[in-house]
Amino acid sequence: MKVTINDRVVHVEPGTTILEAAKLLDVKIPTLCHLHLHDIKYLNKQASCRVCVVDVKGQENLLPACATPCKEGMVISTDSFRAIQARRTIVELLLSDHPNSCLTCAMNLDCELQRLAHDLGIRKIHYEGETHDEPIDDNSYSIIRDPNKCILCKRCETMCTEIQTVGALTDVGRGFFTTVGSAFHRPMTETTCTFCGQCLAVCPTGALTEVNNIKKVWRAINAGKYVIVQTAPAVRVALGEEFGLEPGTPVTGKMVAALRRLGFKKVFDTDFAADLTIMEEATEFVNRLKHDGKLPILTSCCPSWVNFIEQQFPDMLDIPSSCKSPHEMFGALTKSYLCDKMGLDPEDVVVVSIMPCVAKKYEAHRDELQGVEGHSDVDYVITTRELAIMIKETGINFLDLPDDEFDNPMGESTGAGVIFGASGGVIEATLRTAYHMITGSELPDTLMEFHGLRGLDGIKTASVDIEDRTFNIAVAHGLGNARRLLEGIRDGEIEVDAIEIMACPGGCIGGAGQPYHHGDMMILEKRAAGLYSEDRGKEKRRSHHNVHVQKLYKEFLGTPGSKKAHDLLHTHYTPRPRL
Ligand code: SF4
Ligand code: SF4
Ligand code: SF4
Repeated sequence: MKVTINDRVVHVEPGTTILEAAKLLDVKIPTLCHLHLHDIKYLNKQASCRVCVVDVKGQENLLPACATPCKEGMVISTDSFRAIQARRTIVELLLSDHPNSCLTCAMNLDCELQRLAHDLGIRKIHYEGETHDEPIDDNSYSIIRDPNKCILCKRCETMCTEIQTVGALTDVGRGFFTTVGSAFHRPMTETTCTFCGQCLAVCPTGALTEVNNIKKVWRAINAGKYVIVQTAPAVRVALGEEFGLEPGTPVTGKMVAALRRLGFKKVFDTDFAADLTIMEEATEFVNRLKHDGKLPILTSCCPSWVNFIEQQFPDMLDIPSSCKSPHEMFGALTKSYLCDKMGLDPEDVVVVSIMPCVAKKYEAHRDELQGVEGHSDVDYVITTRELAIMIKETGINFLDLPDDEFDNPMGESTGAGVIFGASGGVIEATLRTAYHMITGSELPDTLMEFHGLRGLDGIKTASVDIEDRTFNIAVAHGLGNARRLLEGIRDGEIEVDAIEIMACPGGCIGGAGQPYHHGDMMILEKRAAGLYSEDRGKEKRRSHHNVHVQKLYKEFLGTPGSKKAHDLLHTHYTPRPRL
């Protein structure tokens, strides 16, 4: 079809919306409720905000570009006085019932409503009326919900219901009293919420934000505690974005240097614990194979996913690996092995995890992870964004920092530990070591990269021949995809040997604690590329080659899967069915 937009002609397929047609001409139409996460096919098409209204020749009313399909011969003006004036009115009306506390809002400078108001040149709000004064839900360890900042765009609801298939958020009430929140206004802790945080990752305003632990960390540092920090793989390829670098730029050395300047006594790498996870998980997998144990084995390093299976599939809790997530393993070892080695009293030691994740904030409080002698494995979790704030607060010139290196004995990692951060990475890393455990020889370098398990497809599958057996592997990211896999397994329609599941798009690189991607999935691809390039650059790429992991087993844990390893590094799951 031929359509004309702002006097320029474009040819489009039937079904193309005006918004999509305008993009082909590089014509920007502002949007607010609309969100299209390319490649994972997530589309919020509520057309509820009407910010994208355009003038169409022959139409009396302005039409929303996101929800209006092009028609042959359509003549569209996206920048008419009437359209721009209407957008201003819409945004002013939204602001007339908004706290407008931008300077102190967690989303300051990241808020899409704020940016839109700026771009539309709004300097005054001409409307006054009733405003909302709803209670804020800050009961959970992960998420804060402030309905007063909600603009009813429903991005969160679409994410939670359609992509994650959790359904913890919905419209409540009618008319002016409509809010988007939990059924019966229950606190999020009493809903089916898994704390994946993907709702807050797509919320355009500060209505959904993470629980901020920065002050607690500063207090611990300044109270003279021995504060040890660990950083997850996905953080190093995203932190630079907060300082103007391209997504995917690895800033590992600068990040370590910054953490030392912030006052952390030791800076360790969660990748070390990722290598350890592989040793334990591969051992568990091989043991299940040898002893006719339950297959498939499911990875267990994503707490949101663990929460999901406990709530939604309580009859299938015998299939996830019993391994704790890497940062929890790290915490347990810090408060036992490391404290012994360094002559520290675990009472004086505080473990801080820097994660791409808001679910890990909740995870650190799970009863099962309160560790030996009542010490939490991990005391505080802060996100990539929170780390960036700490660095900015102290005025450190991040980009000029010289590279520094992780401390040891828990700082060494292999390429296998690095790729944990991308969807498919955990299973790929497990295969590198399971192959060795099964055959006694090394997986050839040429077979080290399982490209079929990489990328942003929702469910990826691959088959691998090891000796005389073919192993079928599946990888899912996003809880909706996880649900499809689990239902297939339960119904006997899917037969696989091992499955990796991550709750966030693209895995932890798309975690809700990462710098906001604002719907640009290319950012996730670049972060994944950053991790894969770090893996390729590593001298050692197999977890069982990690010398410090080997030493840890020799000095402290015994063998992978030993009783001591189980006591410290494994956990259990509890059925938590919830309506
Ligand atoms: S955190 Fe995840 S599960 Fe919870 S409401 Fe948000 S999207 Fe739904
Ligand atoms: S909480 Fe955020 S994402 Fe959800 S409807 Fe409100 S503004 Fe939109
Ligand atoms: S995929 Fe990673 S970032 Fe997302 S909830 Fe799971 S562990 Fe956290």
